[in-house]
Amino acid sequence: MNYLSTRGHPDRKRFCEILLEGLAPDGGLYLPEQYPQIDTATLAKWRKLPYAELAFEILSLYIDDIPPADLKAICAKTYTAEVFGTDEIVPLRELEDGVYLEALSNGPTLAFKDMAMQLLGNLFEYELARRGAELNILGATSGDTGSAAEYAMRGKKGVRVFMTSPDGRMSPFQQAQMFSLQDANIHNIAITGVFDDCQDIVKAVSNDLAFKRKYRIGTVNSINWARLLAQVVYYFAGYFQATASNDKPVSFTVPSGNFGNVCAGHVARMMGLPIHTLVVATNENDVLDEFFRTGVYRVRGAVDTHETSSPSMDISKASNFERFVFDLVGRDPARLRKLFVDDLGLNGSFDLSADPAFAQAAGRFGFRSGRSTHADRLATIRDTDKRFATLVDPHTADGLKAAREQLTPGVPMVVLETALPIKFAATLVEALGEQPARPKKFEGIEALPKRVVKLPADAEAVKAYIAEHCD
Ligand SMILES: *Cc1c(COP(=O)(O)O)cnc(C)c1O
Repeated sequence: MNYLSTRGHPDRKRFCEILLEGLAPDGGLYLPEQYPQIDTATLAKWRKLPYAELAFEILSLYIDDIPPADLKAICAKTYTAEVFGTDEIVPLRELEDGVYLEALSNGPTLAFKDMAMQLLGNLFEYELARRGAELNILGATSGDTGSAAEYAMRGKKGVRVFMTSPDGRMSPFQQAQMFSLQDANIHNIAITGVFDDCQDIVKAVSNDLAFKRKYRIGTVNSINWARLLAQVVYYFAGYFQATASNDKPVSFTVPSGNFGNVCAGHVARMMGLPIHTLVVATNENDVLDEFFRTGVYRVRGAVDTHETSSPSMDISKASNFERFVFDLVGRDPARLRKLFVDDLGLNGSFDLSADPAFAQAAGRFGFRSGRSTHADRLATIRDTDKRFATLVDPHTADGLKAAREQLTPGVPMVVLETALPIKFAATLVEALGEQPARPKKFEGIEALPKRVVKLPADAEAVKAYIAEHCD
C-alpha cells in the first residue's frame, strides 16, 4: 500500500515512513492511494473475530512494511481486556429502541483517544527500535490528547514526551491524570498562558528546523494517519455488534472536533462496510455543521471560537477535514489546493454550495450533521439519566442529541461514546446535582505527588528544557 498527499506531491510513501511524520512535505495530509474493498465473505469471516484479530486484519490491508507476525503481536499486546476493561474492548449497549452507545472510553485515560494512541505507542516503540532511532514528542494539550499520549508512551523505549499545557486551566482530574505520572520519559510542562500559547510554542519549535533535526522532534497530533487507521477498527466492531448479518445497514453519530474520529468512519464506509449515515455532531463551535448544511466551510477566528462545556470539540478549524474533501472533489489535488490553499488562505473560507460535489456529501458519502448547545447538553444528560439510568459525558450528550434528529426507521443508530462522565464532572454536577462515580483506579489521584515544571510562554525556554533533558 502506498500513501499520497492530498495536495498532489509526486512522492509515494509506505506506512512506516509516514508513521513518524506529520504533514506531507507540500502541507497536505497522507491518504492511501486507494481504499481496500471488503466483500461479504470477508465481512462474514471478520464478524467472528476478537477485537485484536479484527484490528490485525484491517491494519494488514494498509501496512505492508511490518512483517505480519510482528503486526499481529503488536495488536494482541495493545487491545487487551486488562487495558480496555472488557473482552469486547468496545462493548455496545442498547439505550432505547434502535439507539446504541458504543463504549470507546474505558482505556487508561477514559476517552476514546486511547483506542488509537495505545496502538501508536506500540508502533512507535517497534519502529524506533528497528531503526535504532529516538523520538522526542512535543505536544500541546488542553486535556484529552495530552493524557492519552502520555499514557501510551510512558515507559516506551526510544520515546520521550514533552507535553505543554496551560497552567491551571485543565480540570483538577485531568491535571492529576497527567502530572501524577512518574515515568522518566514523560515531561509535563505547565506554561503560564493559555492553550494558544502552548500551540504557538510547539509551532515555533517545529519551525526551527535545525533544532527539530538535532533533537528529533515529532508530534502525535490527530492528523497522524496511524491514529485514524486504528479508529477504523471500532466502526467494524460496532457494526458487528449492532447487526446479526452483513446485509443490514447501520448509522453512526460521532461527536466531532478535528474530524479525525468521523473520518475513520468515512474510511470504513469507503471500504464497503454497510454504513447508512454518518452524523457529524458539533457543539457551539459548529464549523462542520455549517459546512454540511450549507456547503460553506468557514474557519473561525479566536473571538469566534467558544469555550464550551464539551471542550474537546472546541475547534476553530477541523484539521482532518481536508482528507474528506479530497474524496469529495474526486481526489483532484488541483481542486483541493484551490480550496485549502487559495480560498482558505485568502478568505478563510470556501464555498461549495453551487458545486455538484457538495450534493455528494449527503448523497454518495452519507453525511449528515447536527449541533448541540450547553442547554441541549444538560437536557440530554438529565434525560438519559432519568429514562435509562445511564450517565453520559457532555461530548457523548452532543452526539445523542444529533443522533435523535437523524434516525432512519429500521436502521440501528450507534452513538460513539467519546469520554466517561468523570472526566467532565463539573458539567455532570451542573446537570444532575451530583458527582459521577469514579472508577476505582482513579480514587484519590488529586492527592498524588505531581511531576510538572512551570515555564514562561516562551519557545526558547521550552527548547532549553528539551535540550537539557535529552540524553
Ligand atoms: C478529541 C475528542 C473529540 C473530537 O474528536 P475528533 O477526532 O477531533 O473529531 C470528541 N470528544 C472527546 C471526548 C474528545 O476527547
